[in-house]
Amino acid sequence: MLTYIAGSGAMGCRFGYQLFKAGKEVILLDKWEDHIKAIQKDGLKIVGDHEDCVHIPIMRPEEATQKADFIVLFTKAMQLETMLQSLKGIITDKTKVLCLLNGLGHEDVIKKYIPEKNILMGVTVWTAGLKGPGTALLTATGSVNLQSIDQSGEKEAMVFVDLLNEAGLKVTYDEDVVPSIWRKACVNGTMNSTCALLDCTIGEFFASEEALRVVDTIIHEFVMVGEATGVKLDEQAIKDYVMHTSVVAAGHYPSMHQDLVQNHRLTEIDYINGAVAKKGDSLGIPTPYCHMITDLVHAKEHVLKIQ
Ligand code: NAD
Repeated sequence: MLTYIAGSGAMGCRFGYQLFKAGKEVILLDKWEDHIKAIQKDGLKIVGDHEDCVHIPIMRPEEATQKADFIVLFTKAMQLETMLQSLKGIITDKTKVLCLLNGLGHEDVIKKYIPEKNILMGVTVWTAGLKGPGTALLTATGSVNLQSIDQSGEKEAMVFVDLLNEAGLKVTYDEDVVPSIWRKACVNGTMNSTCALLDCTIGEFFASEEALRVVDTIIHEFVMVGEATGVKLDEQAIKDYVMHTSVVAAGHYPSMHQDLVQNHRLTEIDYINGAVAKKGDSLGIPTPYCHMITDLVHAKEHVLKIQ
């Protein structure tokens, strides 16, 4: 049973490492030359909660020749389609593909390349970072919720739930994963963009009444648009979850802050607030806060000359 990790940055290294340590056949795919060379030469180094080094195979997607049983996608959202195009040679009509990217709408992209019965969509609260090429920072614990988007793929999906669980990834098959995907998008949509724009931690942002009004309004826009697309969302429960997360993660800079402010990298904003604004437009639902946040993040990318 061969698993490819398609996009072996921070999260891809976590999943690849855990599968490899559990004795599973796994190949990392990436295009970052220094990262590939470092892992090929010295192995994938793990730091954080524990230290380790594993000699795990890694290559560019176009170098992969063995057909895939399972592919775990872990690019950034805006890199997904290019990655899928480069995987054509290893995908068969039996290859299952799991997407755990943050954000909304990825299934529409994946459906262009993979039959629906083979697509697993999900959400994860595992985290990971990179300390540099070849070194992953793994701390804390997490879990995964996933679902086959087509009922006919459910039974086969359980094989991959078991595979990931044997690697300690704490996976649950979820009969209705879409609300959880939207709930996580709400967390990202209220914290990532705002903390990146204001250059502050989650706790610093959530400390004012004005910020909480912004948070409430963004959540309301997500809920209005989500419900109009048929996703059942409990607005109060989402608010409670966001507030709880803001306390637990108070000292953290969210990943969009790391991308935009710290590393001057493009953000996933078009797949978070931007996705809600776009969907809202198509449904005639006003989403002025999501529109403005998306425009401001792009404006900041422009100010910082990020391409
Ligand atoms: P990352 O930038 O560290 O990793 C993405 C990797 O994909 C990079 O190494 C990049 O070189 C590679 N890549 C991109 N396009 C490629 C292509 N066409 N061919 C080959 N390689 C390609 O990102 P990440 O932090 O691992 O996040 C991945 C996804 O998981 C994002 O959607 C993110 O929001 C989500 N996520 C991240 C975390 C976290 O803690 N880092 C937690 C939960 C969810």
